[in-house]
Amino acid sequence: MESQELLSVLEARERLLAGVGVLDFENIVTDTAVGRVMAEDVLSPHDVPTFASSSMDGYAVRAADVAGASADSAVALPVTADIPAGSGIPQELAEGAAARIMTGAPLPAGADAVVPIELTDDSGDRGDTRAPQNVSVLSSVETGDCVRPAGLDMRSGEQVLAAGDYLRPQEIGVLAAVGRGRVRVVRKPRVAILSTGDELVVVGGSLGPGQIRDANSFMLSSLVRRYGGVPTLLGIARDRAQDVEAMLDRALEFGTDWLLSSGGVSVGAFDCVRSVVERHGKISFWRVNMRPGKPLAFGHYKGTPFLGVPGNPVSAMVSFEVFARPALQKLSGRCALDKPSVEVTVLDEFVSDGRESYLRVMVCREEDGFVARSVGSQDSGILTSLVRANALLIVPAGETRVAAGRRMHAWMLDWMHD
Ligand code: AMP
Ligand code: MG
Repeated sequence: MESQELLSVLEARERLLAGVGVLDFENIVTDTAVGRVMAEDVLSPHDVPTFASSSMDGYAVRAADVAGASADSAVALPVTADIPAGSGIPQELAEGAAARIMTGAPLPAGADAVVPIELTDDSGDRGDTRAPQNVSVLSSVETGDCVRPAGLDMRSGEQVLAAGDYLRPQEIGVLAAVGRGRVRVVRKPRVAILSTGDELVVVGGSLGPGQIRDANSFMLSSLVRRYGGVPTLLGIARDRAQDVEAMLDRALEFGTDWLLSSGGVSVGAFDCVRSVVERHGKISFWRVNMRPGKPLAFGHYKGTPFLGVPGNPVSAMVSFEVFARPALQKLSGRCALDKPSVEVTVLDEFVSDGRESYLRVMVCREEDGFVARSVGSQDSGILTSLVRANALLIVPAGETRVAAGRRMHAWMLDWMHD
């Protein structure tokens, strides 16, 4: 039992992450793989492109044939071929001739450069889609001008992606370019979510006296989705051990990688989550030097990792961002676990109590950089303050007053102009 120890946020996070490993993999359709992490290396099976091609609409020539060409001294060449994109192997270009060629079309053997159409007398608006019989070249070109050699982008046998790479749209494009319709990626973490509390009512239910709606289940499942997991809602457990136990057991029956509960982990008389997990596994119950955030429960329930966050919705979300998010990223195979932060100039004064604080702020970009403004009360029961916020201002432990004008770090919860 580590309940008496006061951990820094960093220590708590490190202890939690130490027990988290990367999940196994699955094969999926590449078109659905954005946001996933590669579980295999990918080599290009061929050059990309496989052939030399033109990078401009224009005329394929031998550079030597147009040496010395200029606007005052144009070189006229017969146009002996017309090569649109997608043509097969074009016929060899004879000496002293030109071939009309489109962007992406294969360069004919014999040609070593392309003269862009703008550097010829072909205005492109003759009202005839056929190539002209002759073309006058108004500029000399160097060998290789406007030509993309075979393998310019990727070489045959070259490793283009590695296991562990995070797949953004551009990596998906690379997979498509090398012909990979399916790809092996790390499986998505499955997270079972439980709300606890006798006062809670399901979202669609009507409120009796002393009751509130369960805001956390939907909010936490949205966070799980946002960070690449697959949430399952277990529902609301009453503040009774057998209720909590039955729901956690149900999650284990259908299979889950992570158990996430909110509420019931503080020191209230009816906070039973902790004892249930302790009875069937191991729990580390930590006091974390953090605001907002009461004690945090982490451990294993019948062998499955368990994280209990406080019930206050603001504390639940901030605890998720600080602890569950990096854990999900690690399970998913991500290497970069730190939340990206920006440096901001604080425009309002903030007070805190010396714990490492994650204060709700609105960050905007102004002429001299990012600025952070207060969104009002930092009471952790005010969920709408998170709606007014787009960032969490990080006040280091030990500081109780942040003067206006200070430069500090903030975690962007989202970008307003993404
Ligand atoms: P607890 O951590 O169980 O002591 O709860 C702390 C506060 O958060 C109490 O005011 C609860 O009513 C509230 N709370 C707990 N769970 C939820 C929930 N799922 N949705 C909204 N508020 C909650
Ligand atoms: Mg409670």
